[in-house]
Amino acid sequence: MIERARLTGASALVCIGESLVAARRAGEIAARHPGFVYHTVGVHPYDADSFEPSRDLPAIRAEVKRGAVAIGECGLDFTYDATRERQRASFAAQLDLARELERPAIVHTRAAEDDTRDLVTEAGKAGTVGVLHCYTGSASLAQAALDVGWYVSFSGIVTFRKWTDDALLRLVPDDRLLVESDAPYLAPVPMRGKRNESAWVSFTVARVAAARGIDAAALGARTADNARRFFGLA
Ligand SMILES: [Zn+2]
Repeated sequence: MIERARLTGASALVCIGESLVAARRAGEIAARHPGFVYHTVGVHPYDADSFEPSRDLPAIRAEVKRGAVAIGECGLDFTYDATRERQRASFAAQLDLARELERPAIVHTRAAEDDTRDLVTEAGKAGTVGVLHCYTGSASLAQAALDVGWYVSFSGIVTFRKWTDDALLRLVPDDRLLVESDAPYLAPVPMRGKRNESAWVSFTVARVAAARGIDAAALGARTADNARRFFGLA
């Protein structure tokens, strides 16, 4: 998968460690592909009930010391069973740690707009930079994040026939826009239903570029630059 991404022109991949165990494995993959694969570490909102600050925050810190480039995925997902109060506590703690470690936060948000707006606004004003990843929420939440200097990232969902919110794809300024695979999930059309992989992110780039009325190659170069700046890649 890494080779196929390289062959299609990828200059780097960010492999998400959405748990401490996943982050360690992602870190091992990154170590085998220095300067090409990077990894992240965080506790996903699905796992918020088992989040233990005194154990997990030092573990996240240690993974960042080993080279993780971002904190996440973290966030809020109120379609999921994990207790909302635990989700808020886990998310807030990781946003604080991101600021302290001067790493960006990768934020998953679903069916939790008001709480996400509050926590992102507070964290952004305090100096945490982050991205609303795989974003499908409202324009107003996206704008609230942009207002505190955050980024917004779109995935293969925007290529699906049921996607109608092209205004959202145009809302994000050129310098705050990211495009992601979210692999192995959400393979873009025409690969929909398959196990997604990084090489196919170009289909999503093309769809976002069409909505914005610009050239896909130019948008791809721009979002790649944004990703390098956001993640602090070499
Ligand atoms: Zn997510």
